[in-house]
Amino acid sequence: MELKPITNPAGSLYSSILDTIGDTPIVRINRLAPEGVELYVKVEAFNPGGSVKDRFALAAIEAAEASGALKPGQTVIEATSGNTGIGLALVCAAKGYPLVVTMAESFSVERRKLMRFLGAKVVLTPAAQKGTGMLAKAEELAREHGWFLARQFENEANADMHSRTTAREIVDAFGGTGPDVWVTGFGTGGTLKGVARVLRAENPATQIVVAEPDNVPMMQSGIPQDRDAEGRPVSHPMFRPHLMQGWSPDFIAKLAGDAVSAGSIDRFQPVGGNAALQAARDLATQEGIFCGISGGATFAAALEVAKTAPKGSRILAMLPDTGERYMSTVLFDGITADMSDEEIALSRSTPGARFDSPAPAPVAPAAAPSCKPEAAKMIDEIVAKHPVVMFVLEWCEFSWSVRKLFAAAGLHYHAVELDAAAMQKDNLGGDLRAALGLRAGAPTIPQIFIGGEHIGGATDTFDAFKDGTMTEKLAALGLTFDAAKTANPYAFLPAWMHPR
Ligand code: PMP
Repeated sequence: MELKPITNPAGSLYSSILDTIGDTPIVRINRLAPEGVELYVKVEAFNPGGSVKDRFALAAIEAAEASGALKPGQTVIEATSGNTGIGLALVCAAKGYPLVVTMAESFSVERRKLMRFLGAKVVLTPAAQKGTGMLAKAEELAREHGWFLARQFENEANADMHSRTTAREIVDAFGGTGPDVWVTGFGTGGTLKGVARVLRAENPATQIVVAEPDNVPMMQSGIPQDRDAEGRPVSHPMFRPHLMQGWSPDFIAKLAGDAVSAGSIDRFQPVGGNAALQAARDLATQEGIFCGISGGATFAAALEVAKTAPKGSRILAMLPDTGERYMSTVLFDGITADMSDEEIALSRSTPGARFDSPAPAPVAPAAAPSCKPEAAKMIDEIVAKHPVVMFVLEWCEFSWSVRKLFAAAGLHYHAVELDAAAMQKDNLGGDLRAALGLRAGAPTIPQIFIGGEHIGGATDTFDAFKDGTMTEKLAALGLTFDAAKTANPYAFLPAWMHPR
């Protein structure tokens, strides 16, 4: 069969990662949609930072550049439940601004690590002080250090970006009139305000449904949001802790409040935490659509709406982010790293590569092992010259285990990296490895020598630390180490070897 060459459509070379923000797909739900309605989801995980908030991040920085509020090289700061921080981190990385983020410690650990991986600094705030606490900290840091605060909860650039991009994408995809029903939650309310006003203008019949956690009906309650003397929102009386990270902070943000005042909302749909989790899991296992908890919650709300929607209704739910930043959370409860009973039964249903039968015996070499005499001489010289010698492979986890143990104990060693690129010349690494195998009587790596004496491989070395013989051998050479750090040497083995 002849393979067709891949032809890139015009305009598919992007000049920057920032040009890939937006234009996310709207995807039909096939197996989970009830009879009689068309259900769609807008998958914001397709943004480069994996969430809807990339849109705000780009908008906030570009608006501030245009107005002069952000100077070249100035530090950007923002309070965020994580996705805005990840979006800002990638925008700031691409544009060369330092970024500091304040985030309550209760948001998922993945978020912190992603922001730090993208080069941002993450200042955690106490969970007890909720969203208002992280906001106040960001303001304080901005004031104190003269940084640019992105103010996602009230920055009009947030809603404007959604009017310009998200809303247009939705209207266009639904043939210029938009869907019959649009379902969203709210955090800042940027998505809600920005999209709702365009859908309304394009088609006043569009139903706009706002989902809230069922235990936090802040908007539905109609209780107005109080502010302090400086205009900062105070904790709303209807707020309770809830599952949907990124939704409903402990206050109704200005942009979210604007959508209420503008009369943009037709209906509120409460969603329970379990329904949100189930919907996210159903989307994954029955539609192949991977989203986070707030996406599950929005989809659960859309399913409720679908129950009473007129026949033929076209319903669109927002899925704000990817499920990958929830692996440490309840969303992944029951998803284990180990094999389930069913998987073990599958493993045992055929004879090969299983854990309950010994590995096949290695095939014996045809000829007795041999090595080059000059390589054997080099090994002798190396172990005679250095008091502690480790023959290792650069990226071998067992070699790392021993290196980490020695480093933790403060023991200096001479490492011979047998597979380093520099060892490839004339197969020096291979020759040394053959000679080492003969000398050690074992083909495995690493091999450790102390004062010229062969100790053994990784586990032999750990055993020698454990039973005290290592202390004696090192003491004989005048070497001491931090014994407290080597009390449990096996802890240095790769994580996958630890019993779970
Ligand atoms: N879901 C998640 C996971 C979020 O991070 C956010 C943003 N905080 C939202 C939903 C709500 O989006 P918006 O801020 O536009 O209201």
